Amino acid sequence: MGDYNFKLKLYGVRGSYPVANKEGTEIGGNTACILARTPHNIVILDAGSGIINLGKELVPEILAHQKKSDAPFHITIIFNHTHSDHLLGLPFFAPMYMPNVFLHLFGPATLGKSFEEILRTLVMPQFYPVSMDEFRSTKEFHNLTENDVIYFTHDRSAPKVAHVMEKLPLDRSIAIHVMKYYFHPKDGSYPMRVEFKDKKIVYATDVEQYIGGDQRLINFARKADVLIHDAQYTEEQYKMFAGYGHSTYVSACDAAKQAEVDKLILFHHNPSHSDKDLREIEKKARALFPNSELGVEGWEWTV
Ligand SMILES: [Zn+2]
Ligand SMILES: [Zn+2]
Repeated sequence: MGDYNFKLKLYGVRGSYPVANKEGTEIGGNTACILARTPHNIVILDAGSGIINLGKELVPEILAHQKKSDAPFHITIIFNHTHSDHLLGLPFFAPMYMPNVFLHLFGPATLGKSFEEILRTLVMPQFYPVSMDEFRSTKEFHNLTENDVIYFTHDRSAPKVAHVMEKLPLDRSIAIHVMKYYFHPKDGSYPMRVEFKDKKIVYATDVEQYIGGDQRLINFARKADVLIHDAQYTEEQYKMFAGYGHSTYVSACDAAKQAEVDKLILFHHNPSHSDKDLREIEKKARALFPNSELGVEGWEWTV
C-alpha cells in the first residue's frame, strides 16, 4: 500500500457467465469486475464473479482499519447495469458480511424497479440463504442517472454525488461520470469515465457499436488514457448475434481510434472463446489499433 496514487486492476473480464472449464484459462474466467482506487478511496465497477477474489484481498485491509479506527470502512460499487454477469458475485463478496463496512451501491433503476429492489431480488430467500438485511455491513442504495457525478475528497470519506453541471471541489480525488447507452437489451447500460487528476479511464462494456460508432460514446471517451471496451464477438459471430448488445473487437478498435485513446483493453470476452481464440483476436486487434491488449485478470495500471 502507498506505492501508488491511483490503481486500476481487473478482477473479472468475461461476459455472460463465468468460465469454469477443465482446461482452465490464463486470461481469466470471472465475469466483470474492476477496481479503481487510491490508497484511501475504493471504487468497484461491477460485481461479477471477479468481485469474490477482490473481496478476499480487501479483508486484511478492513481488519487493519478496524484496529485503528471506529469509523466505517467505505466501499463504493457502481453497476454498469443489472444483468446477472455484472452482479452475481455480490452475495459472495466478503465485506458484505463485515459489520464495520459501509457499502455505497449505485446502479440504474430499470423497467419500473428501483435499483434497491433489483438487488434485493438477487438475494430473495428463493435464490440465496442470506437476505439483504441479514448481511452485517451497512448498505446504502442509489439510483444512478447520467446526470450524476460520483466523487471523493482525499480523506476516507463516503462518496458524494454532484449534478453533472456542478463544479466539483478542487481537492477531489476520484470522480466518476456516467452516460446512458441505449443499445443494450432491454434498458441500456451505463458506460463510466473514471477521472483521477489528469488521467481518464473509460469503462464501456455491454455496448453494441454499429458501423461508424456511437458518437456520444466516442465523445465521452475522447482522449482517455485507457478505454476498456466490449469486444465479445468476431465479425463472423456478430452476423448471428447482432442486437444482443455487444461489440466486435473490430468496432472496439474503431471506437478507440476515433476517440484517440492511448490504450484499448478488450473486455467482456466471449465465454466460449479459448485462450488461443482470444490471443488470436488480440493479434488481429493490434493490426487495427496497435496499442490494444486483452483484458486479463490481475492486469494493473498505476499512477
Ligand atoms: Zn455483460
Ligand atoms: Zn448485459
